Amino acid sequence: MNDAVQSLAQVRQNIDAAERGAGRDPGGVTLVAVSKTFGADDIRPVIEAGQRVFGENRVQEAQAKWPGLKADFPDLELHLIGPLQSNKAKEAVALFDVIETVDREKIAAELAREIARQGRALRLYVQVNTGSEPQKAGIEPTDAVAFVKRCREVHGLAIEGLMCIPPFDENPGPHFALLEKLAREADVAKLSMGMSGDYETAIAFGATSVRVGSAIFGAR
Ligand SMILES: *Cc1c(COP(=O)(O)O)cnc(C)c1O
Repeated sequence: MNDAVQSLAQVRQNIDAAERGAGRDPGGVTLVAVSKTFGADDIRPVIEAGQRVFGENRVQEAQAKWPGLKADFPDLELHLIGPLQSNKAKEAVALFDVIETVDREKIAAELAREIARQGRALRLYVQVNTGSEPQKAGIEPTDAVAFVKRCREVHGLAIEGLMCIPPFDENPGPHFALLEKLAREADVAKLSMGMSGDYETAIAFGATSVRVGSAIFGAR
């Protein structure tokens, strides 16, 4: 069996065990397989093994490999999990099904315009910079609830969840707990949190989707 396919099965098993361990319904957590830096030839066997939800962090890189794969597998779901520049909003809206990185007014306005123009029904998440790291994308935690409200009321965007990337040198638990609390306050149902090193922890804190790259595809 292909290495990535074998790793995929292991990750799925671990997710299942984490769901049970947390007393959650099995199958409730969506696995977003993060395929950035890997080519279509690496991705295809993982699709053939049944995986349908994928994450990419760059619009241009995704444009180079996903249109062909989407043509072959129409039920694929592609998530943008990296920062979005407003001059890429048009391309992002055309290619992605879910954008997890809405984090400022300008992007919200640009996405609203493109979604209306292209008639696409995208699902959207607001990214929260839970560690208030200066170099990291995401809205400040103290502004998150008001920003979700503005996205909905001013821009008419259907925000369905929150996403975070905890500081990599910190215990992620408090960041996951903060995201869960903000989601309740903002009245959003979905929580995208947890990566290869901490997805089981994230599931214990209520993640509804986990973004797992290297544990499936190998080191980048
Ligand atoms: C790369 C990336 C991941 C996956 O990271 P791994 O540690 O390889 O699982 C998850 N989320 C985001 C936003 C990423 O950029």
